[in-house]
Amino acid sequence: MKIQKVDVLVIGAGPSGCVASSIVHDSGLSTMVIEKEKFPRFVIGESLLPRCMVALTEAGLIDTVAEQGFQKKFGAKFLKGSNHSCEFLFEDQFSEGWNWTWQVPRADFDSSMSDKLISKGIPVHFETAVTAVKFMGSDSVTTVVDKEGNESQIEAKFIIDSSGYGRVLPRLFDLDEPSKFPPRRTIFAHFKDVNRSMEANNAQIIVIDHAPQVWTWVIPFSNGNVSVGFVGDPAFFDALEGDDDQKLKTLIAREANISERFADAPMVWEHAKTIAGYSIAAKKLYGDGFALTGNAAEFLDPVFSSGVTFAVESAMVSAKLISKQLKGESVDWEKDYKEYIMEGVDTFRTYVRAWYEGKLQDIFFNPTIDQKIKRMICSVLAGYVWDKENYYVKNHAKAIDTLAHIVRMNKPVEIV
Ligand SMILES: Cc1cc2nc3c(=O)[nH]c(=O)nc-3n(C[C@H](O)[C@H](O)[C@H](O)COP(=O)(O)OP(=O)(O)OC[C@H]3O[C@@H](n4cnc5c(N)ncnc54)[C@H](O)[C@@H]3O)c2cc1C
Repeated sequence: MKIQKVDVLVIGAGPSGCVASSIVHDSGLSTMVIEKEKFPRFVIGESLLPRCMVALTEAGLIDTVAEQGFQKKFGAKFLKGSNHSCEFLFEDQFSEGWNWTWQVPRADFDSSMSDKLISKGIPVHFETAVTAVKFMGSDSVTTVVDKEGNESQIEAKFIIDSSGYGRVLPRLFDLDEPSKFPPRRTIFAHFKDVNRSMEANNAQIIVIDHAPQVWTWVIPFSNGNVSVGFVGDPAFFDALEGDDDQKLKTLIAREANISERFADAPMVWEHAKTIAGYSIAAKKLYGDGFALTGNAAEFLDPVFSSGVTFAVESAMVSAKLISKQLKGESVDWEKDYKEYIMEGVDTFRTYVRAWYEGKLQDIFFNPTIDQKIKRMICSVLAGYVWDKENYYVKNHAKAIDTLAHIVRMNKPVEIV
């Protein structure tokens, strides 16, 4: 059997795997990426956050992505019925840093980054799946199978598991942990955005008035297509008639904020897609000789588009720690990886929970909110969930609960 040796083996060539392997490579270590699919391949997760530009820059991938001409994203708009609207513009955000990003068809986004890895000399083996991993201390032997069914082995000093929902190491080593959120479902499709108006280029999130806890995303792309998806309790979708195509059509027709725009918009795909029970966690984020990044570690919820940002941030931080460790420096994985990553995840978790409890919607659609508070919340929505200068990050749960309480008592809200 063929045996290869590498310092750091990366599983998966999504955003997390691409950022991780690029940073490891640039630090002078050898790396290799194993990817199960043939690229380009579809994956959901199309609306990015400004904070992710930091990791793309650190990984030397930002220029390649910029060359693709993706739709620029300058903010996010929330709508409810015909008279509730709230727009967050990232230029108003409280935290310093990138104040724009992109909306990307992921097949193109991910391919542009994996092509860049190859041009840097990183071996990326597509249509090859990791099937088994054996650890001897921190050293490991990974078995992979290519599309012809040929098995080979890779000896590595460290493994970064960026396999997304493949969750290779969590599955092999019983690290899967259920999410604290109830299972939700989505039905979505790409359409030709034939009726797009000039001002409709930013992503929109629409609260479905007649069904609490149901919302829809509208994410326009620069290629003239648009991603439209509905998210809610599985029972909500079960109660609708017909197959998923019919359900999606019905939901679009019912929602006045989008019904006209998409009434005659042709679907790009043959059928709508559906995903259920996508929120997931892990018992640990690192161990002797491995780290979990991106969705292989944790995925909260699509509502604030935190997935790719978390995927590339965790990739960047873990790759830097591994590079230090393999060069003989001491590394505190608990503090510098797990605690750091969970701080960001927990901040987003508060906002996701508050969204489904209706608290954030009451806050967003309250016209009297102090502009400084709005700027702080805007920063969270831009992905700056590690900025402790921001009261709405540092005290996220208390800050949001108190604000919602005040808003619900109908008082004008000012920061003291
Ligand atoms: C409904 C929904 C909407 C979402 N919307 C957004 C959004 O608007 N914005 C956002 O930022 N995020 C969004 N997300 C989240 C986003 O999809 C993920 O967080 C993101 O794709 C994670 O990136 P990743 O690199 O960790 O994994 P992925 O992008 O999934 O990449 C993992 C790669 O690993 C490969 N792989 C799997 N198993 C193996 C194996 N055994 N061997 C080798 N390779 C393997 C896979 O083929 C895949 O290419 C959404 C998620 C859902 C469910």
